[in-house]
Formats: sequence, structure tokens, C-alpha cells
Amino acid sequence: MRLILLGAPGAGKGTVAKMLTDLDGSIQISTGDILRSAVKAGTDLGKQAEAAMKAGELVSDELIMGIMEERLQENDCAAGFLLDGFPRTIPQAVDLKGLLSKLGIKLDGVMNLNVSRDVILDRLITRRTCVDCGEIYNVKNNPPAKEGVCNKCVGAVVQRDDETEEAISKRLDVFEEQTAPLVGHYESEGLLVDIEATSSVVAVDAIKRFLKID
Ligand code: ADP
Ligand code: ZN
Repeated sequence: MRLILLGAPGAGKGTVAKMLTDLDGSIQISTGDILRSAVKAGTDLGKQAEAAMKAGELVSDELIMGIMEERLQENDCAAGFLLDGFPRTIPQAVDLKGLLSKLGIKLDGVMNLNVSRDVILDRLITRRTCVDCGEIYNVKNNPPAKEGVCNKCVGAVVQRDDETEEAISKRLDVFEEQTAPLVGHYESEGLLVDIEATSSVVAVDAIKRFLKID
């Protein structure tokens, strides 16, 4: 499958993407994960992205398009991909369209994960992430077996720098301003599929129905 997952921070894009990769060998491409590992490794890319990320703002379209142009040409994309957290702005969506047509790749659709703002706020405040493998936990309903330690890789499970209440509220504002317009954009391209995402299982079921897989 070749999908864009669209939705607010905390809508469940990452969890849904991981569940979908199990179905057909498609890979998850998360620009947030790519940027976080670059920050952690202290690369040039990481240095350029760090300040914006910490503040809950977007990094530049140019930087993101540079990353994605390379990433989409890697061999592991051949079986399909789930774009998680990209595109995030209209210019990124326009550039992505050009890039895909250049690479001869056709999308199955843009899955718009709908979740209410209350649910989103609650999820983000209680979310914890493994610094090593990116596995996502929730202190209320999905904590790691041993507090602060990843079940999968024994990495540290922490609250992200951009998941303080202040940064969360900033990220939601940025989403409303810069990313929500993509819904109308993809609707007019005939690619938008609205998905009720009350839970990731519900969302995955709806996406499977759309793709006619069981
Ligand atoms: P979220 O939980 O908000 O979906 P992500 O892990 O996708 O978080 O992104 C974390 C941060 O990385 C964003 O707040 C932003 O600073 C940066 N980022 C990720 N993807 C993009 C993108 N496509 N365009 C610009 N900035 C991005
Ligand atoms: Zn881990």
C-alpha cells in the first residue's frame, strides 16, 4: 500500500502506520523519527532541525523535501510505504506530487485520521516514547512492563521535549494553521478518505476496508 496518514499530533498516525506495516511489508516513513534520530546523532540535519522541533514549530519545507526525496528512492520503499507526519504543509504536498510523478509512484489515498481535540490533548500529555527505537507507550493505558524501560529494546522511555503542555498546545496551533488545510487540498485532488480514529484498531479496520484487504 502507498498511503499518506494525515491527522493532528496524537491522532495515532504512528501506531496505525506500525500496525499497517504488518499487513503487506510496506514500511513506515516518519519524518519526526528521522529528525529525532538526526538530533540524537548530532548530524548537520539534526542541528538545523533541533530548535524548531523543541519549540513545537515546523522545520523548513526545504529541509524536509531534501530528506524525503532521498528516502523515497531507497529500495525498501518498493513494497509500499506509509507516510507518517509528511506532508505537513501545502508546499510540501505540492512538491510531493511532483516527486511522486517523477518517480512513477501512485498513491492509494490520503487517510485523514479524525480524533477530537480533548482526546488528542489527553493522549499527548500521557504519551511516552522510547528514545532508542521510537516505540510509543502511554502512562495510563499502555505503560512499559518496567517503568521507564522499553519492552522492545531496553531503551529509556521518556516524555518527549515537545510534549510539555506548552509545546503541545503550540503544536496543535501549528497543525490547525499549516497542516489542516491539507484536508481540503487532498479532497480536491480526489485522494481524501475520512477515517474515524477513536482507536488505532478502529482506524486500521477502516483503512483495510478501503483497501479491500482482510
Ligand atoms: P507529531 O506527534 O506531532 O505527529 P512528529 O514526530 O511527526 O510529531 O514530529 C515532531 C516534530 O518534527 C514536529 O513538531 C516538527 O518540528 C518536526 N517535523 C516532523 N515532520 C515534519 C514535516 N513534514 N515538516 C516540518 N516539520 C516536521
Ligand atoms: Zn525501544
